[in-house]
Amino acid sequence: MKSLTDLTFDNRFARLGDAFSTHVLPEPIVEPRVVVVSAAAMALLDLDPTEADSEVFAQLFAGHTLWSEAEPRAMVYSGHQFGSYNPRLGDGRGLLLGEVVNDAGENWDLHLKGAGKTPYSRMGDGRAVLRSSIREFLASEHLHALGIPSSRALCVTASSTPVWREKQESAAMILRLAQSHVRFGHFEYFYYTRQHDLLKQLGEHVLSCHFPACLAQPEPYLAMFREVVERNAELIAYWQAYGFCHGVMNSDNMSILGITFDYGPYSFLDDFDANHICNHSDDTGRYSFSNQVPIAQWNLAALGQALTPLVEIDALRETLNLFLPLYQARYLDLMRRRLGLLSSDAGDDALIQRLLQLMQSSAVDYSNFFRELGNSTADQALARLRDDFTDLGGFDAWASDYRTRSAQDGGTQAERSARMHAVNPKYILRNYLAQQVIDAAEQGDYAPVRELHAVLSRPFDEQPGFERYAQRPPEWGKHLEISCSS
Ligand code: AMP
Ligand code: MG
Repeated sequence: MKSLTDLTFDNRFARLGDAFSTHVLPEPIVEPRVVVVSAAAMALLDLDPTEADSEVFAQLFAGHTLWSEAEPRAMVYSGHQFGSYNPRLGDGRGLLLGEVVNDAGENWDLHLKGAGKTPYSRMGDGRAVLRSSIREFLASEHLHALGIPSSRALCVTASSTPVWREKQESAAMILRLAQSHVRFGHFEYFYYTRQHDLLKQLGEHVLSCHFPACLAQPEPYLAMFREVVERNAELIAYWQAYGFCHGVMNSDNMSILGITFDYGPYSFLDDFDANHICNHSDDTGRYSFSNQVPIAQWNLAALGQALTPLVEIDALRETLNLFLPLYQARYLDLMRRRLGLLSSDAGDDALIQRLLQLMQSSAVDYSNFFRELGNSTADQALARLRDDFTDLGGFDAWASDYRTRSAQDGGTQAERSARMHAVNPKYILRNYLAQQVIDAAEQGDYAPVRELHAVLSRPFDEQPGFERYAQRPPEWGKHLEISCSS
C-alpha cells in the first residue's frame, strides 16, 4: 500500500507531444469537500483507503495542487455527434493529469473532469456540476461491479464555486481512471485533418501500449481493429443484457478499449422497453436502447474509415462484418445465463425474444424479473411472476416452454439459484435512486450517496436491511427527464 505522495508516473500520452494534447493547469474549485470515494478504485493505484482522509486528498482532486511528476494535458479529438461530423472537440473540461504505474505494472490514466477551461472548451465553462459528477461516479463503479467493462471513478469533490446550467448549480470534479482515454474520435481527428503521419503515430502508441499482442500479427492495425470490434461486440452485449442505455453514443464517447465511457444522461431500464430513450434531447431516438447495437456498428465503421490510410479498406469491411454475429452470440450467451440455462438450444433466441415482448407489453420490471426467477424453484417463481403480466395466455405458454427448457439442464434448485443470483443483480442503479442521493448531496448531506455507492458495489449480494434499494421506482421516479447539460 502506498501513500498519495508515493505514486509513480509514466506519462506516455503526454510524450506524444503538442500535436496530440496541450499543457493546461487545472483551475481549482473553492472550498473543496470530498463527497464520495471508491476504495476499490484506490486499490488500482495501490492506495491505502485511509489516504482519502488526508488533507492533501481533497486538494489534489479539486485542482489546488499537483504531484510533481504530473503533466496535465488536454487531449485533442473530433468525432461524429448524432451522426454529423464535428471537426474539433477535445477535452473541454477535463485534463489527463498523468499515467500512474501500479505495482502490477499497469498504467492508469488520472483524468480530472471539471478542471476548468482548455483550448477545446468552445463556449463551455470548463466545469462539471455535482449532479453529473455523482451520476458518473456511481455508474462507473456500479458497472464495474456488475462485470461490465467501464472507466472507473476514484472520487467526487464538491465545492461552492457557482456554475450556471438551466439554474445555478455548484461545480464539482470527478477523478476518472482508465487504462486509456483514447477515443474513436482521436483517430478521426488525424484522419480528417489529413495528418496521416500523426494518425500512424497514434496507432503505434495505441498498439504498443494497449494491444501489444497485435504487433506480432502480419497486419497489426487490422488486428487492432478486429480487437476493437470484438471488445465492442462484447460491451454492447452486456449493455443490452443488463438494460443499460448509454444515451450519447457519439464516436467521441467510444473508447478504443471497448469500455463504457463518458457517462451522460444514461439509465438502466426499470420497466423493459426496447424503445427507451434516456436522453431527452435525443428527439429522433437515434440512441434508443435497441438502437445501441446498430449504432455501435456505425461508430466502428467511422473508426474503420479513419484507419483507411493504414489498412486496406476491404479487410476493414470484412472485419466490421464480424460485429453483428459476435454481438448476437455473446448476447445470447449472457441471456441464457440470466435465465439459468447451462446448455444451448436452437430455440433459445426465440424463447428470449418472446419473453422480452411479453415484458414490453406488460411493462415488467426488467432487473427484478430475473432476480425473482432465481429465488425459488422455477415453478414457484413463475407462479409469483405471473401476476406482473397482462397477457396471461402468452405468459403461460412461455412459462411452460421455459420450464421444459430448464428441465433439460438438470441440477438442484440450490445450484440453479446460486448460479442465477451470481449473474442477476438484486441492486441496480435506477435513476430515481441516483436522484435521491443527488438531492441530499446538493444540500450538503453525503451519507446517502456513500451508502448507495456501497450497496451498488455488491449488486449480486442480498445485503439484508438494504432491500429498499431494490424497489421499483415510485410514481415520481418513473419518467425522470435527465438533462444532458452536465
Ligand atoms: P460530452 O457531451 O460531455 O461528451 O462533451 C462533448 C464535448 O463538449 C467535449 O469536447 C467536452 O469536453 C465538451 N464540453 C462539455 N461540457 C463542457 C463544459 N462545461 N465546458 C467546456 N467543454 C465542455
Ligand atoms: Mg464526451
